[in-house]
Amino acid sequence: MDNYYKNSFKLLSFFVLYTFLCMTLISCKGNSLSSSNSKIVDCDYCNGVGEIIIDCPNCDGEGIEECSWCYGEGKNLCYTCGGTGRDNCLMCGGTGRDECNFCRGTGRDNDGSSCFQCDGMGYTRCFFCQGRGYDECDSCNGRGYEICSDCDGYGYVECDVCEGKQKVSYECPQCNGTGEIQK
Ligand SMILES: [Zn+2]
Ligand SMILES: [Zn+2]
Ligand SMILES: [Zn+2]
Ligand SMILES: [Zn+2]
Ligand SMILES: [Zn+2]
Ligand SMILES: [Zn+2]
Repeated sequence: MDNYYKNSFKLLSFFVLYTFLCMTLISCKGNSLSSSNSKIVDCDYCNGVGEIIIDCPNCDGEGIEECSWCYGEGKNLCYTCGGTGRDNCLMCGGTGRDECNFCRGTGRDNDGSSCFQCDGMGYTRCFFCQGRGYDECDSCNGRGYEICSDCDGYGYVECDVCEGKQKVSYECPQCNGTGEIQK
């Protein structure tokens, strides 16, 4: 009797364990069945949008980039005068002086006295450049630089990559732009 009770208890516990295992298996199967029914879900990589939007890497999300023509200076050295703002006077070769045509540069009259025309200097002030030896550069009005035409002097231009929108987007590689994936 004692033995029989022991055996039946063993049998019972085995049965309970077996039942528990079976139910666990069934419930697992049931779960996997229900998830395979909802096949299409929002792509978790792009949140179902289909595209990835990031700060523009070219301008760090600023929407503008340094003008490559003037390196952000907003102005460029004048090509004509090389940045000096000056245009050497061609009439006097940049000296600002004209040889006195009365005494031919000697500073002396025919009789040996000081030339009245040039006060004995032998030269006169260049009429064309007022003795400075140069004129203001026509191209830059003497500034030595020109306002950058690419950026209108701002130094920055709209970013080429994002066209000023600060963000760029590309097709989501996980869902190929559909926004949905199959689970
Ligand atoms: Zn996606
Ligand atoms: Zn510029
Ligand atoms: Zn110039
Ligand atoms: Zn001159
Ligand atoms: Zn003279
Ligand atoms: Zn950009």
